[in-house]
Amino acid sequence: MNRKWSAADVLQLDVSGRPQAWVTPREAAVIYASDGVAWTLGAAFHVLRGGIQRTTGQQSRIEVHPIIAVRGAVPTSAWRQVPTLSNPKLFARDRHVCAYCGGRFGFDDLTREHIVPVSRGGGDTWMNCITACRPCNGRKGNRLPEEARMTLLYLPYVPSLHEDMILRGRRILADQMDFLLASVPRSSRLHG
Ligand SMILES: [Zn+2]
Repeated sequence: MNRKWSAADVLQLDVSGRPQAWVTPREAAVIYASDGVAWTLGAAFHVLRGGIQRTTGQQSRIEVHPIIAVRGAVPTSAWRQVPTLSNPKLFARDRHVCAYCGGRFGFDDLTREHIVPVSRGGGDTWMNCITACRPCNGRKGNRLPEEARMTLLYLPYVPSLHEDMILRGRRILADQMDFLLASVPRSSRLHG
């Protein structure tokens, strides 16, 4: 199937409303079919048709909602998890803007910049990483920003789980964005 023309993904939550994953409508249909959906949000946006049921002679039909909460236990540690760091998510957090020159760049011209260089004990973490263009990253080199006389135009932060789902989203429906943004702090750049 051509992904370009496929339906948007479904936002899967646990039963307490914590975002878990983006799944395809087909993956969601499997959860519906096994009676694994506890509740849904938003109007159905996709219909999947299955085989003819022998007893009724009718074709099975599953309406897929943009947000589904699945049954099951919720680990108490779930809310404390820090989203994993990746370049696509880091650049999306920082809106593809270089933290030093303020220019907006495409993915291939951006780098993961360690504010405190790794060689000097800086961590590969959300709080020590920022988006920088290649020339700015090269100019800063193995120095701290103040040593290089370079100023951060914005500050790093750790995305919340809801924000992380936005950063990971491929194509996000309005119902899903409303749900996720409602839990994203006003200070986030995603509200910008
Ligand atoms: Zn730059």
